[in-house]
Amino acid sequence: MKNKELEKIIPLLLSWYDKNKRDLPWRRTKDAYKIWVSEIMLQQTRVEAVIPYFERFIHRLPTLTELAKIEEEQLLKLWEGLGYYSRVKNMQKCAIELTEKGRDTLPIKYEELLKLPGIGPYTAGAIASIAFNEKVSAVDGNVLRVITRLTASTANISQPKVVKEIQMLLNQIMPIQSGNFNQALMELGATICIPGSPRCNICPLQKECVGYQKGTMWTLPIKDKKKKQVEEEKTVFLLFYKNKIAIQKRPNKGLLASLWEFPNREGHLKNIDTLYPHAQITKTGSYKHVFTHKIWKMEGYSILLKEKPKEKYTWVTMEELLNMHSLPSAFKYFLQDIQD
Ligand code: SF4
Repeated sequence: MKNKELEKIIPLLLSWYDKNKRDLPWRRTKDAYKIWVSEIMLQQTRVEAVIPYFERFIHRLPTLTELAKIEEEQLLKLWEGLGYYSRVKNMQKCAIELTEKGRDTLPIKYEELLKLPGIGPYTAGAIASIAFNEKVSAVDGNVLRVITRLTASTANISQPKVVKEIQMLLNQIMPIQSGNFNQALMELGATICIPGSPRCNICPLQKECVGYQKGTMWTLPIKDKKKKQVEEEKTVFLLFYKNKIAIQKRPNKGLLASLWEFPNREGHLKNIDTLYPHAQITKTGSYKHVFTHKIWKMEGYSILLKEKPKEKYTWVTMEELLNMHSLPSAFKYFLQDIQD
């Protein structure tokens, strides 16, 4: 598809977006900080799930300066449940870097945004176009799907060079209303040109869509097959001593870095009573938690100790655990067993 043909979608898409866009809290502002927070939260998380997190986060940390200052423990607590915690750690790194240079706002140019930690081409494009109207594209998975179907492209979108080509193609046709155009493409991908079966019967771009005309839209986009997730077995210990429960910090690198967890060991252990000979042991539920690349299959035991174990755990009351410590979702399943 030539640029001239693709340009035809601009007025159709902008007018569709104007009438059909969802009313979302981050769409009521031009504040780059708020747009940045929403864009980072929306990576890997559904819009409906993000809304309460976004409102709570902005209420607690309304500016870049507040974000730079907050204790990491409190920041992680604020993010608890959203997952992919490196996202918010990078945001704070970025806020600290900027405030140390005397800034209290994000830079306004795409190229400057791109230099900051955790801000890639998509996020830089979204902030620069939505907050500052820079004529630059913001290509996420939704946009890749819409454009490959519109152009009936069989290029593999898992390849960075294909993503770059689509970015450049969109940069060439980008209208003055760049923020709205980018958001309209994303919105179309999220609500009409959805994965699996696109809703072409109500699509404003149907007449311009080569994939639809050729009937190939079902097969697009082409991408690498997902790698099979590795399964790991774990035994989780809910250790109680004098009305407190044991938790420990995870290593500060890797999966769920620096978050709190219940003590646990690899494998489904069978000899729990030999590990804790004088304790009262009850089996809890078994839970499965799915990460992007792995699946944890967890068996848990609630263990009422008579003596304090020699391991250096942190002992907290349930109230402290719930209000002050960030426990990842993978371990939260066990709370239902011990709160009853
Ligand atoms: Fe997607 Fe169908 Fe619209 Fe083409 S016509 S952009 S395939 S929803």
